[in-house]
Amino acid sequence: MRSVDDLISEGVSGRRVFLRADLNVPLDKARLSEGAAAITDDGRIRASLPTVQALRDAGARVVVAAHLGRPKGAPDPQFSLAPVAARLGELLGAPVPLTADVAGDDARAKVAALGNGDVLLLENVRFEAAETSKDDAERGELADRLAGLADVFVDDAFGAVHRKHASVYDVAGRLPHYAGRLVARELEVLRRLTTDPERPYVVVLGGSKVSDKLAVIEALLPKVDRLLVGGGMCFTFLAAQGHVVGTSLLEADQVDTCGRLLSAAGDRIVLPVDVVCADRFAADAEVRVVTTDAIPDDLMGLDVGPRTVEVFGSELANARTVFWNGPMGVFELAPFQDGTRGVAQAVGAIDGLSVVGGGDSAAAVRQLGLDESAYGHISTGGGASLEYLEGRELPGLAVLADGSGS
Ligand code: ADP
Ligand code: MG
Repeated sequence: MRSVDDLISEGVSGRRVFLRADLNVPLDKARLSEGAAAITDDGRIRASLPTVQALRDAGARVVVAAHLGRPKGAPDPQFSLAPVAARLGELLGAPVPLTADVAGDDARAKVAALGNGDVLLLENVRFEAAETSKDDAERGELADRLAGLADVFVDDAFGAVHRKHASVYDVAGRLPHYAGRLVARELEVLRRLTTDPERPYVVVLGGSKVSDKLAVIEALLPKVDRLLVGGGMCFTFLAAQGHVVGTSLLEADQVDTCGRLLSAAGDRIVLPVDVVCADRFAADAEVRVVTTDAIPDDLMGLDVGPRTVEVFGSELANARTVFWNGPMGVFELAPFQDGTRGVAQAVGAIDGLSVVGGGDSAAAVRQLGLDESAYGHISTGGGASLEYLEGRELPGLAVLADGSGS
């Protein structure tokens, strides 16, 4: 796999670079009119800077493509990349114009006007239905137009490499292609997690849906010393142990699978011993801490409790490698933050490699005011990291590894 640094050594001054980046940041919809201020966590924009900056410094004409949210394959102002263009410009200290279309007349005109070291952002690629189409020909037609805007392709959108999308996958078949610095860094860390990790190796999983994470649990179980399960997904495991989970998140159709995983895992899966419950999903709800064998019928568990933080903390204390994905509770609401904060602190405190994966987990680290530098790596890609750890082939990486391309 050739890297952007190889491209820079080849000489990229004056060349047009199609840079796919992951700029899919969370936005406060109520503040969309305020430009960059609407962005609630700019971590992904900052993570893309090293590659953008390196290309600018080398005199490239940088055409950045990215997606934001899930528009329905057509322009939709609430998914415009305008706030992102503004924030990227602030961080670079240089204007970043946004095109009106993805790969049409306006994009072509603005690319033609680029000078060496300039940066342009194309409007949300998902405004084109073809971007995410299952039809190769449809994606190919868009990829032709995107590739026509540039001379070479650099993929730095780690968070999208598990997608077979036009701007991630098909463009690589049409231009000489290189991996960006973020992609290289993410891969280096994932390789350390999958190639002979230093032990004890502890994985912490949380988040809302257990069905999203069963495949990774299955793949990781034989490899880890401990798997600590919190978040909304712990209730399906607790139900499999025969506990009543009240009105907590429960995926009834996954109870049997969770039961099977628990018996296969022996004591390697560790579940919460207490939970913070409330009668409803709200910041001003009345809160109660109960043990997991005594969850009242009419309450829902919205965070792991203080004793669980201690139990998980002692499992983490002597770990040498930790991968954490998924918040322990509804950290977006103040009464349900302590579990995520406590476990996140224990992850950051280990003597070894700590990796945080997942958009919400990374956002939690920053929103809860934790020290980002405590972690070995904060990944920008949730789904992509999980699929890599499952051992699946990621289309966006496979196509970069293939040295061909026109
Ligand atoms: P990541 O983006 O880090 O991979 P997920 O998207 O899987 O994480 O899950 C994040 C979401 O899980 C958060 O929005 C959080 O509110 C939610 N969550 C965590 N614990 C619970 C719970 N007990 N009940 C409901 N939702 C929960
Ligand atoms: Mg998420």
